[in-house]
Amino acid sequence: MTMTQTYIATPRLTSVEEARRIVLEQAVMLGSERVRLEDGIGRVLAQDLIAEASLPPFDNSAMDGYAVRSSDTTGASREHPLTLRLVGEVAAGEVLERAVSRREAVKIMTGAPLPPGADSVVALEEARVRNGLVEILADVALGRHVRNAGEDIKAGDTALAAGTRIRVQHLGLLAGLGYAEVPVFRLPRVAVLATGSELISIDEPLGPGKIRNSNSLVLGAFLRQLGIEPVDLGTVVDERDLIRQQLEEAATCDVILISGGVSVGEHDLVKRVLRDLGMKTLFWRVNMKPGKPLLFGRLRNSVIFGLPGNPISCVVCFLEFIAPYVRKVTGEDDPTDGLVRARLTQPLRKKEPKTLLLTAQLREEAGTLAVTATPQQGSGMLKSLAQANAFIVVPEDIMELAAGSLVEVIPLGGDPWL
Ligand code: AMP
Ligand code: MG
Repeated sequence: MTMTQTYIATPRLTSVEEARRIVLEQAVMLGSERVRLEDGIGRVLAQDLIAEASLPPFDNSAMDGYAVRSSDTTGASREHPLTLRLVGEVAAGEVLERAVSRREAVKIMTGAPLPPGADSVVALEEARVRNGLVEILADVALGRHVRNAGEDIKAGDTALAAGTRIRVQHLGLLAGLGYAEVPVFRLPRVAVLATGSELISIDEPLGPGKIRNSNSLVLGAFLRQLGIEPVDLGTVVDERDLIRQQLEEAATCDVILISGGVSVGEHDLVKRVLRDLGMKTLFWRVNMKPGKPLLFGRLRNSVIFGLPGNPISCVVCFLEFIAPYVRKVTGEDDPTDGLVRARLTQPLRKKEPKTLLLTAQLREEAGTLAVTATPQQGSGMLKSLAQANAFIVVPEDIMELAAGSLVEVIPLGGDPWL
């Protein structure tokens, strides 16, 4: 039996996976620059950092006590102390050239270099001083309480590899090794522009038919979480020439985020203006909900994300595409890390075979992560977003999920580098 089917000529929607692949293909790194170490936090290293010297740079004491030769303490105990001659003292920051000979001790503070001849430290509480003599109350093993030169890191070893994002936990090592400056990948300049004749800024009173521009603020804050100070180009009304002017200005940036005007409505002019300006469309419309109208292309030396104006759509597009793009362009190896898997606390059923993103509450329950969709869902539901700390991602081909299933979750984190 043969069947005839009529297909309606709608443009094919790009799958989320394919769209992300296309986005990441455009994410080429921007070269490197040197920045001061304190400004390097959150930046990605462009070169391996090799230790020029060892840490610690010299053998030193881990305790306040007495530097001795351990063989001089053999058999010592509280009952049978052994007596050594106190021949000097060395504090942190000083160097005692005088050697410690047999049956001698030097008073030493934490961090002070071990004098030549000494091989161990007797802690203060394991010794007693009497008339210029030190009574040793314990038998100390060779190397006791000594931090050896290079035990932390040896000269010539890799301190941090290229591609590492510099985090707080790396700063001590780099400071210790004397990296006042670090080579990092350059950050992209990202323009943020909101379109829509209905938009007013948040400090203006609402007039008839107007709403406040929330997208610019949200996109800017997400960018700052990724270490990028946005170039905020404000809002522009739905007029071709004005949009065009703003886009010309935005095109001096590496990346343009423009929200609104990419759907199929009569006033959705962004796409048309971009076409007039010579944008190469890489995809338009993704098989996802919310976020379907997303447009991605190249305009001269910039990449452009045309985001749907609905605030939740805008957020979802940022998380799924722009954040991975920015992470890759700044030099991160795995631009999608940060996803977690969590157990659904409720069943979910989908109506269409699209990737579905739901505002959700993620929390830890009895040692595992549990996730619950917020009661209201919708691309304009700002309160639902405010109640959420994550998004549930249901892939295109999964239509139904039972309570207890493991699902992919994008957490809405704080600053990921701290
Ligand atoms: P659009 O994508 O231009 O069709 O806009 C879709 C919906 O999002 C409309 O209801 C707009 O009013 C709303 N919207 C567009 N831009 C913004 C914005 N910057 N902030 C908040 N809502 C917006
Ligand atoms: Mg609009």
